[in-house]
Amino acid sequence: MSDVTRLTAAELAEKIHTRELTAEQVTQAHLDRIGAVDDFVHTFLHVDTEGALAAARAVDAELDEGRAPRSPLAGVPLALKDVLTTDGVPTTCGSRILEGWVPPYDATVTRRLREAGVVILGKTNMDEFAMGSSTENSAFGPTHNPWDHARVPGGSGGGSSASLAAFEAPLAIGTDTGGSIRQPGAVTGTVGVKPTYGGVSRYGLVAFSSSLDQAGPCARTVLDAALLHEVIGGHDPMDSTSIDAPLPPIVEAARRGASADLSGVRVGVVSEFAGEGYQAGVQRSFEAAVDVLRSLGAEVVEVSCPHFVYALPAYYLINPSECSSNLARFDAMRYGLRVGESGDSSAEDVMRATREAGFGAEVKRRIMLGTFALSSGYYDAYYGQAQKVRTLVTRDFDAAFDKADVLVSPTTPTTAFKIGERVDDPMAMYRADLCTVPANLAGNAAISVPSGLSDEDGLPVGLQVMAPALADDRLYRVGAAYEVARDRASGGSLVYRVPELRESGA
Ligand code: GLN
Repeated sequence: MSDVTRLTAAELAEKIHTRELTAEQVTQAHLDRIGAVDDFVHTFLHVDTEGALAAARAVDAELDEGRAPRSPLAGVPLALKDVLTTDGVPTTCGSRILEGWVPPYDATVTRRLREAGVVILGKTNMDEFAMGSSTENSAFGPTHNPWDHARVPGGSGGGSSASLAAFEAPLAIGTDTGGSIRQPGAVTGTVGVKPTYGGVSRYGLVAFSSSLDQAGPCARTVLDAALLHEVIGGHDPMDSTSIDAPLPPIVEAARRGASADLSGVRVGVVSEFAGEGYQAGVQRSFEAAVDVLRSLGAEVVEVSCPHFVYALPAYYLINPSECSSNLARFDAMRYGLRVGESGDSSAEDVMRATREAGFGAEVKRRIMLGTFALSSGYYDAYYGQAQKVRTLVTRDFDAAFDKADVLVSPTTPTTAFKIGERVDDPMAMYRADLCTVPANLAGNAAISVPSGLSDEDGLPVGLQVMAPALADDRLYRVGAAYEVARDRASGGSLVYRVPELRESGA
């Protein structure tokens, strides 16, 4: 394996900008790595070799002319979740219904990456339309966890997080509707951030549950995530829910955090996120992480958020409701798959046959659930009730943030589970989101930072840090401080302990 793929994005950028390495060399090294291991991990649905090399050469040409780098990440490669549109490059959302579809436009996130000179390597595997916690709902086969091939990499953005753990890319983009950036981050030993709702544009992010969906950065270090967040974030007039305010100083906060001093920071431990259903190894890793935060000077307090236990059921009503409305656009008439067309078939026949063939089981389940929850007669009892719970969850956060600057919990109750273990048990699959959904319901910012390996099974565990809306900088300060202390205690960066992958064909 080339050493280049083991560097952080910040290190790669420095080497590219000082011309120690060319962007093309860096891109080629990652393409080679993808070629060597992707048959094994299956993190990519589409690799854009030509596009990536062309983008890298363009950055090299500018730097060779003596121009300033377009951004702090110019020339650094990235893996993009296949739910964001890419002009001229296939976008499937992990679904047969969009197989072969080539979008005519870039999402705002995609456009900002290109403008910043970030090199897009390709599109990553995901649960169909981002519905799932394991990447097993992809129509194109599961992604494997680089730590253990027989286990899932989390989901829905398992491809993005696993591409980092497999050293196929130093940066990735995910989307987090109920945890799909943070939970895959946790179980692959990588960093994932769900920004404040409205902090990153949703234009060109194929809609799943619009009041919850949020794109965000995935990386192997907190600083790399901050650098990426700054490239993609900020106001976008193309998204009506985009926040029209400057981004908080996130890179500055990550750099400040690296001094590993958290004196004056109040950290609230959410008491509801413990007990039954939490693996003992996860619990111990979390408690050790809280001790580390305390040792850095943080004041640790216990906080209770009594309505968080209702967040998961409320999420699984609101999310399918919005999903049933959003996915109505896949009607076989405008784009994507069309089947069942014959001389006497009606538009409805074609629609029915196309959806039957094009959607997988989880997507159908959510459309049916959501249609039911929104139907007259049931609306108040289900959707309306869930919206009330959403308000109560938000109030719990407000009260907790009176007592603490950030809240912490495990990111997910268990380490990576085995492929196949939960596919036929949707409720077990949904429980992976227990700790992550409250931040989506309230629109807050949250990060998952690796907190070492479980002493039970040797698999990665994630520490979740949550901050109020618009205070994303707090995540980066606390996350970076924790990361420094964690590496000091373990004698090296966690990610470098990822076992060597079996190369394809071996
Ligand atoms: N696992 C959650 C779900 O299936 C989260 C999905 C997501 O964040 N995209 O809804």
